[in-house]
Amino acid sequence: VDFSIETFSSELGDVEIISNEKQRKRLSKDFSWFSPVLKDFFEGYEADVVVKPTTEEQVAQVVKTCVAHSVPLTLRGSGTGNYGQSTPMFGGVVMDMSAYKQPLWLKGGVARMQAGMRLAEVNKWTVPEGWEMRTMSSTFRLATVGGFFAGGFGGIGSITYGRLGERGNVLGAKVMTVEAEPQVIELRGDDALDLHHAYGTNGILLELEFAMAPALAWAEAIVVFDDFMDAARFGQALGEAGGVVKKLDTVLADPIPQMIELGDYAKPGQHVALVIIAENALQPMAEIAAEHNGTVAKQVAPEEVSDSNTLIEYTWNHTTLRALKQYKDVTYLQSGFRAGKNLEQIEHMYQHFGDEVPMHLEFLNIGGMMTCSGIQIVRYTTRERLDEIIAYHEAHDVHIANPHTHILEDGHNSGEADPRQLARKKAYDPKGLLNPGKMRAWGEVTELDNVG
Ligand code: FAD
Repeated sequence: VDFSIETFSSELGDVEIISNEKQRKRLSKDFSWFSPVLKDFFEGYEADVVVKPTTEEQVAQVVKTCVAHSVPLTLRGSGTGNYGQSTPMFGGVVMDMSAYKQPLWLKGGVARMQAGMRLAEVNKWTVPEGWEMRTMSSTFRLATVGGFFAGGFGGIGSITYGRLGERGNVLGAKVMTVEAEPQVIELRGDDALDLHHAYGTNGILLELEFAMAPALAWAEAIVVFDDFMDAARFGQALGEAGGVVKKLDTVLADPIPQMIELGDYAKPGQHVALVIIAENALQPMAEIAAEHNGTVAKQVAPEEVSDSNTLIEYTWNHTTLRALKQYKDVTYLQSGFRAGKNLEQIEHMYQHFGDEVPMHLEFLNIGGMMTCSGIQIVRYTTRERLDEIIAYHEAHDVHIANPHTHILEDGHNSGEADPRQLARKKAYDPKGLLNPGKMRAWGEVTELDNVG
């Protein structure tokens, strides 16, 4: 690598450069510390310089300079990813996209915006026009659309609209290539999805076009159960109730409610469901709860819900964050229970692991079928035991999207390269400068096993 910060900076024109050491270190990190394995692994990796473009011309200038000097280029939205996705493993440049954030247009239920726009800002823009994000990570206040698309999975809204990568949710993307003369390419439909969950390894997302959902008045509720499987069956039944409009259907087994300060609603030994539903669905939801021996312990009307007063930040990976704040020895799993036999699998795992792996379920629509993802809390002892827990799930046909690896293929594709992602990488980043070290199919990853 032919690189000196002085040379580099002098060629960048008017792009903002962050060279303050504290800032540079902070902007080289994400939330990989959720994993005890990744926390150790990522120690010490940082950018040589962070840049913060505000225009397409500035992004192109950064790209040209990186290519000219063969400098690695790692993209960052807000750095809320969990697998060190935006941490540079070979130094070089971190390009912070969070100031490239203009809304572009909104029409006919479709919104187009620059990649650095935060999810909460998208809603602030579109809700007054009657539209909202179909699905958002629980980090919606911070996360950017580009980071969510390149690093995320789904979240609030996935109960109805499925994963972000479900066909139809993201309609297009404008992408810049990493070449001496960067090209700007518009990808539509499935082609745009080639950059989804690729950790920014195969192109720079400049703009995204999202299909939106009608914005409704959303109420929230906490339902309490004495029996865990009653709670799980309620989650499934609520998910399957086609006439009950909803955007969150979370089930937390005892003792998670106590661990994340929901003890005002659930006693020790009780399990909860956290739901966000249309106001007109409150009664049918309460009826489904009663059928499953659940009691509505709290109900919040739409006018009392706000970005700072919502159940959202008790769900998805915010459940783990809250548990980690109180208990240093916990971590988590990401599990895909199979539609059709998910309740059976859940019951088996619940009984098999007991308090070592407290159950956290997020119900969602996958390919038109109701199932759930597990974001179970794990009481961490050793890496070997964590691997055993993962292997046990996989041996029982529960897919694990391993959150304890930085390698793209191991995190989501069970070790398999995605040929379409790789083809885009070859075409859009022929020198392999984008986020090196994350895509095994490209060749230069450091396996976790080789780290002492
Ligand atoms: P970053 O972390 O900055 O980046 C993520 C990846 O995208 C990186 O690989 C980066 O290189 C790449 N990237 C960023 N911008 C671009 C760009 N313009 N072009 C190309 N690549 C780019 N995830 C979920 O899916 N659902 C959840 O509910 C959820 N909850 C979470 C809760 C907590 C407490 C935490 C810590 C994480 C959670 N996550 C969740 C993970 C993470 O928040 C999401 O993936 C989030 O949307 C990432 O957005 P970001 O802007 O912070 O991206």
